[in-house]
Amino acid sequence: MTIQVDVAVLGGGPGGYTAAIRAAQLGKKTAIIELDKLGGTCLHRGCIPSKSLLRSAEVYHTVKDSQRYGIVCEGEASVRYDLVSERKRQTVDQLHRGLQYLMKKHDIDIIHGKGRIVGPSIFSPRSGALAVELPDGEMETVVSKNLIVATGSRPKMLPGLPYDGIHIMNSDDALAMSELPGNLLIIGGGVIGVEWASMMNDFGVQVTLVETASRLLPGEDADVSAELEKLLRRRGVRVLTSARLLPDTCEVGDGGVTVNAETAEGKIVLTTACMLVSIGREANVEGLGLEATDIQTQDGFIRVNAHMQTTEPHIYAIGDVIGGVQLAHAAAHEGIAAVEHMTGMKHAPIEAHRIPRCVYSRPEVASIGWTESQARAKGHEVKTVKMPFQAIGKAIVLGETDGFVKVVADCDSGDALGVHMIGPHVTDLISEAGLADLLNASVWELGQLIHPHPTLSEALGEAMLAIDGQALVF
Ligand SMILES: Cc1cc2nc3c(=O)[nH]c(=O)nc-3n(C[C@H](O)[C@H](O)[C@H](O)COP(=O)(O)OP(=O)(O)OC[C@H]3O[C@@H](n4cnc5c(N)ncnc54)[C@H](O)[C@@H]3O)c2cc1C
Repeated sequence: MTIQVDVAVLGGGPGGYTAAIRAAQLGKKTAIIELDKLGGTCLHRGCIPSKSLLRSAEVYHTVKDSQRYGIVCEGEASVRYDLVSERKRQTVDQLHRGLQYLMKKHDIDIIHGKGRIVGPSIFSPRSGALAVELPDGEMETVVSKNLIVATGSRPKMLPGLPYDGIHIMNSDDALAMSELPGNLLIIGGGVIGVEWASMMNDFGVQVTLVETASRLLPGEDADVSAELEKLLRRRGVRVLTSARLLPDTCEVGDGGVTVNAETAEGKIVLTTACMLVSIGREANVEGLGLEATDIQTQDGFIRVNAHMQTTEPHIYAIGDVIGGVQLAHAAAHEGIAAVEHMTGMKHAPIEAHRIPRCVYSRPEVASIGWTESQARAKGHEVKTVKMPFQAIGKAIVLGETDGFVKVVADCDSGDALGVHMIGPHVTDLISEAGLADLLNASVWELGQLIHPHPTLSEALGEAMLAIDGQALVF
């Protein structure tokens, strides 16, 4: 069977389904081709299940810590991981149902199957039609005026490790664990590694975190990395930076996993019940039929221009498959940009550093713009300030005073070049800095905003005032 649509979207993750909704809103007949479940990595193996687990871990921590708030619980709190997992499943299911409803509401066709791009054929004089293999083995052809490739990414594994999904896991396996391990070795101190270290530590699991770079979250501002490392260590997480795992030494036995690592202090032996490898993600480009097109890849990711067009201008690519900032809101925004461009609308080019970055550890990390060292490297003369949450009434009320808001501003223009936060609920606070950036507000203007009291948002207002020595409480 052959289906004709205006816009075909290959992959139904946050990039793909957001693009499809925007196309449908603009009156385009739209179809999504998805081989697994609508919602992609984000809904089924990423953002949502991991945040559900993190929330349970946070509640457990709060209950254990309740005496500090004058609340005395009889008996000892314990984790029922089967119930924690059930809550995660229900959260994902609820959102999955909501997404299916949205697709119906916007009259978007969902075709379940594995799509492959075909070259010029009897169906279309140019490449970009899709051959879709349906679950029953039948084939369907989808011909569209425009194609959006949104096939996402998958976990990267360290070559040489005897990966079995149980003792040696990637993030997909870890999310599917049915019980908590006694201890966990995490390889990779990026976003996923740090979130898992924080969560497992809150669940009472002994955690060792190994990172090759000299600091955790190497892409973030160095002050934030240092604060996070200090706070994780204080909670009992063993953090090994500038350390390199030696995969060839890895042995899996009845007692768990043994593996060597090279550290600044020399070679060490690490033993663990299981190991989570979180060293990054690679794009899903294999088997897509790219060889039938002129689409180019670079370092394994599909190359696009500022409008998300591949080297075949009628074919767009968005989300994790193009690399860059691999976050759900980036994928979604790129999807909107692609659709608006193909329909002749104006859309400001997406600048990677203007996409907010969030880490849902305890405390959270959030940032937008240039780090201090990036700003200096770009030739800016900068002034910086760090406003500690200790000075903020709401943080004291919450009992969560760790962390700070750091602002990096240009000495000449007064513009904020970067805002970097570590502390309570900063993943919500970062949107104010994003709005300021969108509206091109200066640090001074942000400082004039009336922040309600007592709120955590006062930390941002105070930081903006502090940069010119005008802070009121610090
Ligand atoms: C553990 C973890 C936690 C994360 N937490 C966050 C977070 O808190 N916040 C955040 O912003 N981001 C988070 N991310 C990242 C986020 O999940 C991704 O950036 C986002 O899902 C990318 O969206 P996408 O649409 O590009 O791709 P995906 O979500 O990967 O979706 C791609 C879809 O394409 C389908 N597909 C692939 N090939 C084909 C084919 N040939 N035919 C048909 N369908 C195909 C796949 O089945 C998949 O459903 C997390 C990721 C992980 C792994």
